[in-house]
Amino acid sequence: MNEYDSDLLAQSLINDGFLPVKEPGDADLILINTCSVRAKPEQKALSLLGRMIDIKKRKPGLILGLVGCVAQQGGSGLIERFPELDLVMGPREVGRVRDCLAEIEERGKKVVAINLDESPPIPEPCRGYFTGRFTGYISIMEGCDNFCSYCIVPFVRGREVSKPPRSIIAEAELLVSEGVRDITLLGQNVNSYMWKGEGGEVWDFPMLLREVGRIKELWRLRFTTSHPKDLSKDLISCFDQIEALCPHIHLPFQAGSNSVLRRMRRGYTRERYLELISSLREVRPDIAISSDVMVGFPGETEYDFEMTLDLIKKVEFDALFSFKYSDRRGTLAEKMQPKVEEKEKSRRLATLQSIQRSITLQKNRNLEGKKVMVLVEGVSRRGSQYTGRTDTNKIVNFTCKYNPIGGLIKVKIKDGLLNSLRGECLMAE
Ligand code: SF4
Repeated sequence: MNEYDSDLLAQSLINDGFLPVKEPGDADLILINTCSVRAKPEQKALSLLGRMIDIKKRKPGLILGLVGCVAQQGGSGLIERFPELDLVMGPREVGRVRDCLAEIEERGKKVVAINLDESPPIPEPCRGYFTGRFTGYISIMEGCDNFCSYCIVPFVRGREVSKPPRSIIAEAELLVSEGVRDITLLGQNVNSYMWKGEGGEVWDFPMLLREVGRIKELWRLRFTTSHPKDLSKDLISCFDQIEALCPHIHLPFQAGSNSVLRRMRRGYTRERYLELISSLREVRPDIAISSDVMVGFPGETEYDFEMTLDLIKKVEFDALFSFKYSDRRGTLAEKMQPKVEEKEKSRRLATLQSIQRSITLQKNRNLEGKKVMVLVEGVSRRGSQYTGRTDTNKIVNFTCKYNPIGGLIKVKIKDGLLNSLRGECLMAE
């Protein structure tokens, strides 16, 4: 979501005549896009702001802004705390960046734009912006109505609003016309997408997926994030019916204990979650499943934690994003007791990650000797190989005698490593 918002900001600014620079010290405008989902990214954003304030002190004409969820939460208090800031702008306001900058430049005013009530304006796309990129994101909705007890998203991104389907399809067609071949539809909870038009027209998420999946030259379609409580049979059947839809789903489970899930207000049980995994694997046996989990939610006992480990072993996720719970201001969980000690949270996280590491490694080793199709995105970090992803979202670094960038090619896997696969290309498709 943040990457997508940053792309929107960049496109808006380029349309307005701005050009990107390599070093922050060369810039006339610096906007820091932020995330407040956990304590760590918030601290990182504020520490980056500190470094940018140092630049502003040397270059007073620089316009400095804080954008995104940290900005939404801090509001005008941020201007009091950091008087060097010219702009504080919430995630729903990114489409108004040009108006905000005009106000700062013309009236010499500081601007705080944190309106959450209206539908976010959709900024003009910038032709040519995606040239040379083969993967892209499209946000199909904003906000969330779920109010999980630990989560700050409904407070900083507002209530759920679905975007009109035709504008989403037009955005997808634009990306494809610029060479993007792999699109991920984004939302906090994409499977509750619901758009009601005039004359009783109704679109749900499977309908939208089917339409986007029909776009010619779109090779791969993905979506994230799905909520287990809204994963319908119709959506599961899409994995069998839509050719472009990749066999990969990110389905956060957060905890394996029913008592913790209840206090998290997640709306499903561990049994229901396991049923969903079975249904997905029935429809698409090769589907890769990734998830999010947290340890140390208030009141999490050793037994609760064991239930989480048990669920991880039962499902055998392809990838797992695991975190220590941190209090987020204003949420229900912030007031819940008892808190789990930091040291204990770290122990639980290390235990969980070690179990998941062996599952991921085994899954990747099982691919050794197999042939997979890779959408080639560029050269690998070390520069000696090419890099891309499988439809199951695994990173593959491989050797190739010709330049395959932008192509969909067959690669034979030689080594399954923890975070990637290594192989050699076989032929062009
Ligand atoms: S569904 Fe996701 S975004 Fe919405 S409140 Fe729950 S965790 Fe937060």
